[in-house]
Amino acid sequence: MMHSESLPWHHNEWQILNQYFQQNRIPQALMIKGIKGLGKQRLAHRFAQALLCPQGLENGESCQECKRCKLFKAATHPDCLVLAPEETGKKIGIDAVRTLIEKLSLKPQFDMMRVVLIYSADKLNNAAANAFLKCLEEPNERTCFILITENSAKLPATILSRCQKMMLTKPETELALRWLYQQQVTEKSDVLLNLAQGAPLLAKAYFEEDVLVLRETCFNDWLALSNQQKNPIEIAEQWVKQPIATVLNWLISWVADLIKCAYQVPIIYLSNPDYQPDFQKLVPRLECKALHKFYQYLLQRQQDQETQVNLQILLEALFVLWSQLTSKDLIHGR
Ligand SMILES: [Zn+2]
Repeated sequence: MMHSESLPWHHNEWQILNQYFQQNRIPQALMIKGIKGLGKQRLAHRFAQALLCPQGLENGESCQECKRCKLFKAATHPDCLVLAPEETGKKIGIDAVRTLIEKLSLKPQFDMMRVVLIYSADKLNNAAANAFLKCLEEPNERTCFILITENSAKLPATILSRCQKMMLTKPETELALRWLYQQQVTEKSDVLLNLAQGAPLLAKAYFEEDVLVLRETCFNDWLALSNQQKNPIEIAEQWVKQPIATVLNWLISWVADLIKCAYQVPIIYLSNPDYQPDFQKLVPRLECKALHKFYQYLLQRQQDQETQVNLQILLEALFVLWSQLTSKDLIHGR
C-alpha cells in the first residue's frame, strides 16, 4: 500500500516538485532527505503518482481515481520500480540492483514516465552503490529516480552529486501539534513531538505504540540506578529487550538536559521538560566535567550500537559508569 496523501508541512516542497512537473524539468534523480517521521516517503509517493497519472489535475496532483492511480496505490504499477532493503535496517545488496537494471533495460509499460523509488538509499552496500551509480550515469529514457534517505552522508559523493536534493525539515510546532490533534493524538502531544525531534509522523507512531509508558519505566530505572536502588546488570537485562536505538537516544537526551540544567538553561530549551524537577534534584550531585565526559561516552556507545553484537555488555558498562558517577557524589555528600 502506497500512501501519497499530502501533508500540510510539505507545502513549499510540493510547490518546487510541482514546478518541475509543470515546466517539464523532471530531475533524472531526486533525493529527498531528512530525519525519520517527516513524511519523506509520502512526498516521494505523491510526486511519483503525479508523474504516473495520465489524468493529472490542473494543480499538478494525481487524480487518485484512474486505473493507474489505483495500481500505484496498490503498489502494483508496472512502471513504478522499488529498490529497498529486504528487511528494515539491513543493507541493499548487489542482486537487488542487478534485478533493477534488468527491469530498466525493458521499455516502460505505459507511454508515460517510469519511476524508481529507492527507500533507505544510504543502505546500499559498496558493490550495490557502484552498480546503482551506473544506472544514474547512463541516461534512462523517461525515468525518474527518487532516493529517500535519513542519512545522506553515508552515500558516496558520486551518487550525491548526481541528485537534485530536497531537504525536509521539521514543521513549526504549532502546525505539527494541530496536525497531531487532527490525527486523534490528543494526549501529551507536545511531549511526544519533543521525543520525535519535531517529526509529526514519528510522534504519531510513538502515540500508537504507547511509547511514553516505556519511556517512564526507563526513566525510573535510570533514576533508581543513580540512587543505587537497582542493579545495573538487571536493568541492562530489561533494556536489551527494548528498541535499543530509541532508548539510547532517550538516555542521551536526559544527560544533555542534565547538562543544560547544570548551566541553568531555561526549561523551554530542554528536550524533556516534563522531567525537569528530577533533573534539578540530580544536578547538585554531579560534576559538570564528569557529566560532559559521560555524554561523550554515550555518543560513542550510540555509534557502537550499530555494529556491536553484545548489547547487554554495552548497556551494563554504561549503567555501571552512570551509577558510579552518581554514587561518588553520594558518598562525598555534595
Ligand atoms: Zn490518476
